[in-house]
Amino acid sequence: MRGIAGGFAFFVALTLPAALLAAPAGKGRVDQGRVDAADEEPGSWLVHGRTWDEQRHSPLDQIDRGNVSSLGLAWSYMTGTKRGLEATPLVVDGVMYATGTWSIVYALDAATGHELWRFDPEVPRWKGRNACCDVVNRGVAIWQGRVYVGTIDGRLIALDAATGKPVWSVLTVDPEQPYTITGAPRIAKGRIVIGNGGAEFGVRGYFSAYDPRDGKLLWRFYTVPSSHAGPHEHPELAKAAETWSKDAMWESGLGGTVWDSMAYDPELDLLYVGVGNASVYNRELRSPGGGDNLFLASILAVRPETGKLVWHYQTTPGEYWDYTATQHMILADLEIAGSQRKVLLQAPKNGFFYVLDRVTGELLSAEKYAPASWATHVDPDTGRPVERSEAHWARKAAMVTPAVPGAHNWHPMSFHPGTGLVYIPVSHATYYFVPSADFRFRPGANFNTGEDVGAMLAKFEGYEDLNFLGCSPTRLLAWDPVAQSAAWEARHDTGVPGGALSTAGGLVFQGNGSGEFSAYDARTGERLWSAPVGIGIMAPPVSYRIGGVQYVAVLAGIGGSQGGHFTRFDYENDGRLLAWKLGGEGELPPVVRRPPGKVEAKPIEISSEALQRGRSLYAQHCMRCHGMGAKSSGLYPDLRFATRETLEKWDDIVLGGIRAGGGMASFADVLTPTQSKEVQAYVATRALHEPNVAQRTLAFLAENICLPATWFTD
Ligand code: CA
Repeated sequence: MRGIAGGFAFFVALTLPAALLAAPAGKGRVDQGRVDAADEEPGSWLVHGRTWDEQRHSPLDQIDRGNVSSLGLAWSYMTGTKRGLEATPLVVDGVMYATGTWSIVYALDAATGHELWRFDPEVPRWKGRNACCDVVNRGVAIWQGRVYVGTIDGRLIALDAATGKPVWSVLTVDPEQPYTITGAPRIAKGRIVIGNGGAEFGVRGYFSAYDPRDGKLLWRFYTVPSSHAGPHEHPELAKAAETWSKDAMWESGLGGTVWDSMAYDPELDLLYVGVGNASVYNRELRSPGGGDNLFLASILAVRPETGKLVWHYQTTPGEYWDYTATQHMILADLEIAGSQRKVLLQAPKNGFFYVLDRVTGELLSAEKYAPASWATHVDPDTGRPVERSEAHWARKAAMVTPAVPGAHNWHPMSFHPGTGLVYIPVSHATYYFVPSADFRFRPGANFNTGEDVGAMLAKFEGYEDLNFLGCSPTRLLAWDPVAQSAAWEARHDTGVPGGALSTAGGLVFQGNGSGEFSAYDARTGERLWSAPVGIGIMAPPVSYRIGGVQYVAVLAGIGGSQGGHFTRFDYENDGRLLAWKLGGEGELPPVVRRPPGKVEAKPIEISSEALQRGRSLYAQHCMRCHGMGAKSSGLYPDLRFATRETLEKWDDIVLGGIRAGGGMASFADVLTPTQSKEVQAYVATRALHEPNVAQRTLAFLAENICLPATWFTD
């Protein structure tokens, strides 16, 4: 049979007209040569950062400083989702490929916004509990006619670019552990590389390369060892193990997840990978006796063919404050001290802007781009930060800046080769780290916001009445990477930044949490144009050209770590993709205000100690989604307005998991029935509570969290 089938195919091929012998006109024909020559087709956006070097700078200049004021909406597309949108849309051969919440993929006509296909990987909704920072996704990779997406439940799926039909799917994680994928897959030397998240719950970080043809695992690089003595999966881990205590908290997995940033240099044949924070944050518990704890908070350069490490640079040795180095990395060639250098630029959470020689990993410079109290400076001789002991919190609580979300998080930067500036979405905030005397690692229990977020927040009387925790105003910072100094900044009044795009039209585009999308003069920071879109924007814009028309497009939909938990808004967060062009006359889709809720809760008789425990447990397990003080951010059900049915079935929901299909997982593994009751009693007090912000709390926050930008910038 095999011979006959093969012969038949051969016969057909020989007899087809020549024009049909070529590969079908097919969609998504991206390959190595095409991405190498990406600047020759500036109308496309072929890979995550547009080019291998991830500069996120568009060479298009139809829209410029002189005419940007006549930008108008070209089209809009409703994603049908209500949670955070963080993706970079790719644009290939007139088709836009974007992702949304729950790892859904959208293929649209990039000139009209008309949907061509849509793929829902049907992630079980209870898996959302494993997502520290919302069920977001940052985009797809496209390669040789296929679209690749990572899913919240850890699958890597290949889709046919023309139809959206799955070709293959592999599970890249142990489903028994709280791994997630939110990052975009990258292509390096024809391999698909994907990492994962989960360090806030306790997992072991790694990234893997797969064969794009069939999903076969080619290699895997673990970022931390699994034991001190070994055996180790690869030789780099034997070296890394020497930087950990024998008594390290191995059971926590140690973290070091690779959840976002990568870049590839085809000339040097190096893949750069950013590594995340520790499980757990408290380094005295994690690795008693110290050590650098490689490869936490590091930038790794590996060979894409083998996964062999060539060099590494650790931004935060002995990571202690959730200072991931997973932030966007840009590759550029810059003249530094009279010589041309191939550099890698990163502004990780820890507040320092790093310029590394990307051939060797040598530190060229590191300066503070934002207030940073944890270290005085980075020693240029050793390449290591000089920590301040005041930031050491294992025994004594400490206010430390940057806060846990970082001075810069996942929101992509851009680099404008014309101005030589890097445009960074920056946040300013301070975090109060409190050690917990009786902390012990519990699988599946989140410790993200300190070892015991409940204990920390319990110290702030009335914090629940604040609209968000900390002030963390955001800004668009234009940074000179050679001089290591600020050129200009544009301030926003919300705590949620948006990703950046620069263009050859002399512009920088950025959205913000208040739902404005703006264009700035790339040299001066003057705001030249702004559109009020109504829905908060976090995602990075892209620019592309079809039929001679330049478009700028961005996803709008708030959520994620900064938007989902501590910010509140009173509109429905209906996600949308918006595209603008000069003279566009489209109408923005309407924004729907949420109706006021109705309180059906009744007081629950319980001791004040039990109520306080409920308050603490709520902060630790529920606040992440349901908001501070049980005031929903707007993304999840507002528990103050829980219906009688919900209140009656409280334990069935919280412990029994009867609403797991809708996203409310069972918490029976971390809460007892008594504790569930204590949480319910606390939520009832919030429902029946009249807002009255304690002045003491406000004063404390004003003094300690909403710090002036200059406070720590010595
Ligand atoms: Ca983290």
